[in-house]
Order: sequence, then C-alpha cells, then structure tokens
Amino acid sequence: MIYRENLHTHTCYCDGDDTPRALVQQALELGFDTLGFSGHSFTSFDDSCCMSREGTQRYCREIRTLAKEYAGKIQILLGIEQDFYADDPASGYDYIIGSVHYVEKNGVYVPLDLSPENFAENISRFWGGDPYAMCRDYFALLAQVVRHTGADIIGHFDVITKFNGNGNFFDESDPRYRRAAIEAADALLATGKPFEINTGPMSRGWRKVPHPAPAWIEYIAANGGTFILSSDCHRKAHLDFAFDSLYTKYGAYLTSFSKLKQDHKYENLCL
Ligand SMILES: [Zn+2]
Ligand SMILES: [Zn+2]
Repeated sequence: MIYRENLHTHTCYCDGDDTPRALVQQALELGFDTLGFSGHSFTSFDDSCCMSREGTQRYCREIRTLAKEYAGKIQILLGIEQDFYADDPASGYDYIIGSVHYVEKNGVYVPLDLSPENFAENISRFWGGDPYAMCRDYFALLAQVVRHTGADIIGHFDVITKFNGNGNFFDESDPRYRRAAIEAADALLATGKPFEINTGPMSRGWRKVPHPAPAWIEYIAANGGTFILSSDCHRKAHLDFAFDSLYTKYGAYLTSFSKLKQDHKYENLCL
C-alpha cells in the first residue's frame, strides 16, 4: 500500500521556502490525497528557524482556510513540529510531531542540526570533545519527547547523525552510541507512537539514508514500532523526495494519517 501523503512540511512561516498554497498545488500535482503542515514551534531562545508567536496564529488561520478551500480535492491538515523546548504547549492541532533540535547545557540551548561546523564547535565546547557524551544527552531527552510535547509522531529519531554521513563525528556502531539509542528507542516504543522515516537529510544532500538510519528502522520495526514516511520538506520540489525507493524498501512498516486516525492513535485530533 502506498500512501500519497506527507505530514512533515515547512513553509515560509518558518524556515521553508514556499507558501502553503504553493505546497498544496505541488501536492495536487503529485496526486497526494493528504498534505499536513508542521511549522516549527516558537522557541524564544532562538527565533532563526521557528514561527513567531504572531506568525503561528496567521499560519493556523491560513492552513484552516486552505483546508476548506480544497475540501474534496485533498485533505489538508494543520500540524506543528513541537520542539522539546518550545515556549508554548501545542493545542488545537490535528497532530504534533515531537522533535529534539537542541540540548540544554549550562543554561545554553545548544543546536544540533545547524551545520557541520557549528556541530563540531558545539561538541568541543559543550561536551569537551566527546561526541558520545553529546549522543547520550540527546537520546536521554528524545526518550521523553512524547510525554513532554504530547507528540503523535516521533520526529527524526537520529537527527544527530545528519552531518555524520561518513562517520566523521562518531561511529554509529560504537556501543556507547548504540546503548544510548536503544534506551531511547525502547522508551519511545513503549508509547506506541509512530516514528518517522524522514528523508530530509537525503534531499539536502547530507546523507544517503533517512532518519532513522536503516539499522534503527529495522530495530524499531522488529520491536513492534510503526512509521510514517515524511520528507521534512523545506522546498516544494522535495515534497516526496525518495518516497518511491523507500516505499519499495519499507512499505510493510509504514502507516498513514488516516490509518492512525482509525486506530485512534491521534490524541490531539480535532478535525
Ligand atoms: Zn526537525
Ligand atoms: Zn522539520
């Protein structure tokens, strides 16, 4: 079964390139039956990638208006990518993607996915040059992301590998990394919430594999987890990036918004 949808979509309200309407047009051209928007939640300590408070209100209004306008042609959903440290709780959304983009160290919210240079500098400055200590802190937070954000979907499980394409920051098969990741995976599996298979790092040329990396997709699936396929789209040309090849590979593990709704897996649903 191939689901023609994407639930992880950014617009010009946060750090995406396109307007919501341009993305809806793209989704229609691709033959999608569902398009979910997931703007970055407001984080007052770093407003470079997120929606402003006022922008969040306009975003919600515009997506709801588009949903009405396109009713019968495509299902348009209002979601949010809720950062672990978001200022405001997420309410009134059709679904929430819970993500960790920062780890708080000594009162500083340290970003983990900005650029390879920034990542290297942060590991050195905040973790004394020990990437496995950073991984441990990241996964310890991620383990709580569902409880903390009210997430319906677990965002980019191993985002800290975004710049680790050729293992230049750490060895993903190292027991220190694996132990931290397993603890987070097990805690998150216990919530019953789906994980993403997120093709964002592939579309942006950082990695040849999605988040989570194949070994973790297999671990999560083997332990009863499910996934939704998402592109973490920041420009419309990437709306279904690598979907065909990943459906071929992981189709059996995938579920969809409609299916989760039927199974009452979406606590935040307010359609
Ligand atoms: Zn994210
Ligand atoms: Zn995102």
